[in-house]
Amino acid sequence: LLTDDGVPGTTIFAEMSALANATGAINLGQGFPDTDGPREVLLAAQEAIAAGLNQYPPGRGTAVLREAIARHQRRWYGLEVDPDTEVLVTAGATEALAAVLLAFVDEGEEVLTLEPAYDAYGAIIALAGGVHRTVPVDWPAFRPDADRLRDAITDRTRVILLNTPHNPTGAVLDEALLRVVVEAAERHDALIVTDEVYEHLVLDGARHVPVATLPGARDRTITISSGGKTFSTTGWKIGWLTGPAELVSSALAVKQFLTYVNGAPFQPAIAVGLDLPDAVFAGIAADLQAGRDLLLGGLEAAGLPVSSPAAGYFVIADGAALGFPDGADLCRRLPELAGVVGVPVSAFCRGEQAERMRSLVRFAYCKSPAVLQEASTRLATLR
Ligand code: PMP
Ligand code: GLN
Repeated sequence: LLTDDGVPGTTIFAEMSALANATGAINLGQGFPDTDGPREVLLAAQEAIAAGLNQYPPGRGTAVLREAIARHQRRWYGLEVDPDTEVLVTAGATEALAAVLLAFVDEGEEVLTLEPAYDAYGAIIALAGGVHRTVPVDWPAFRPDADRLRDAITDRTRVILLNTPHNPTGAVLDEALLRVVVEAAERHDALIVTDEVYEHLVLDGARHVPVATLPGARDRTITISSGGKTFSTTGWKIGWLTGPAELVSSALAVKQFLTYVNGAPFQPAIAVGLDLPDAVFAGIAADLQAGRDLLLGGLEAAGLPVSSPAAGYFVIADGAALGFPDGADLCRRLPELAGVVGVPVSAFCRGEQAERMRSLVRFAYCKSPAVLQEASTRLATLR
């Protein structure tokens, strides 16, 4: 995690946000919304602070949030979880990932992910001493091959770390594929950890299928999510994990020495969000869909081939078509060329897969229409 000079390396997101700040370019790099989420959620946090909820919350998380998470799992997915034993509130999905992987992965044990993969996965697997195995997905569909995925799951696999909807590709893993994973996990007695932070940001009426709802999955699956994406509160870092009580207890054992607890006044506010009516969730996805369509149109008009994200915050474009074979190089030059910042997809990959994804750049569309319009106008100058 250190550079060759012995200093901490920065994440690609921090690096590209710094570049946007330094150049005044539009930041479509790091994934965070530029407008606030539901007012009820924001007010609830202010009220919680005013009401004095400013000291350590309980270790597993505030009861009102754990209960709201359990209600949410039942209402959206028909999943029953016990708020007292099967839910753990964490400092974002990031801490949930860290607590789970540190709890379950021993030195030399294998963790399987798709590739590209969210950057924290490889770093946390390394912290746990695990071995990171991957199954590549290909541009532009980014759909994993079921046979390849099945074959990659072996007796050496300790954890299959899924991410649906997927960052950076925006792919939603379908039920048939998830069934293949669950069956292989059962056969090889592997644990499934599933990062579903974009669960409500599914577009075009597509359906998010939580892995834990599939036959045989519940007893070996830890599901991770976060309020940051759904309610546009990425800076609050309220995440959670749900799963069988023994697995949650093991994650708690680690979490208590990572942060102990987190975000006391934000926890009841996220509980308010989780209880909001279906129409609010639909509105959040509809706004995002409009943003996606705007940016997709802008990138296409600029002459860039694009992926068709079914969910999440990001679209991927291929710089090669405009004579930019190296996405990392393009990202460094893009502020000057077009006044826009993106993130190279190679930052989510290693070795051969990084080479295959070399010309691809990820752009965030979780921004207001005026910003996406302006970014599109600027990108048109690339042509
Ligand atoms: N997993 C994925 C796939 C993500 O995209 C993100 C946020 N970008 C996280 C986890 C981290 O979520 P949080 O901010 O809640 O820690
Ligand atoms: N998850 C966000 C992204 O993919 C950024 C989070 C971060 O900066 N670590 O852009």
